[in-house]
Amino acid sequence: MLRPILKYGDEILHTRAEPVAEITPEIDRLIDDMIETMYAAPGIGLAAPQVGVPLRIFTIDLSVGREGGGLIVMVNPEFVERDGLQLEEEGCLSVPGFNATVVRPSRVIVKGLDRHGGEQQREGTGLLARAFQHEMDHLDGMLFVDRLRGIKRDLIVRKIRKLTRAGKW
Ligand SMILES: [Zn+2]
Repeated sequence: MLRPILKYGDEILHTRAEPVAEITPEIDRLIDDMIETMYAAPGIGLAAPQVGVPLRIFTIDLSVGREGGGLIVMVNPEFVERDGLQLEEEGCLSVPGFNATVVRPSRVIVKGLDRHGGEQQREGTGLLARAFQHEMDHLDGMLFVDRLRGIKRDLIVRKIRKLTRAGKW
């Protein structure tokens, strides 16, 4: 089932998400819905708070479902390692129409649970490292806009406020 994606300004997106205590049938359904919603958007990553559920779960698929085996589902993820630096354009399904260059580590190792509750550890470089960090930020109530500084951030926030006032956000 497709779930609506919340946009910048919604309280849930700006709040730290809680760990998943147990993979219940409800969590299993949520994960199915997140995958479907991510592919339909289309997007390469989605975090549970983006569909209004304040839990520490994200899905990533850099191929947007075009290649088998590309899907990553992480429950209660944590960083094990982060190093290097990369500077690339980044966007977000919750901030449609806006992009900005965000500084991120270029390599990360993330560990967490898979959707069956088994432990997993993943390494990502380049775009995958960026996606891991972007989705981890969502679980901490942070959007890429919050990682920008000064005038770049102000410009996006001001445009979003304007769109919100006009009922177009
Ligand atoms: Zn995002």
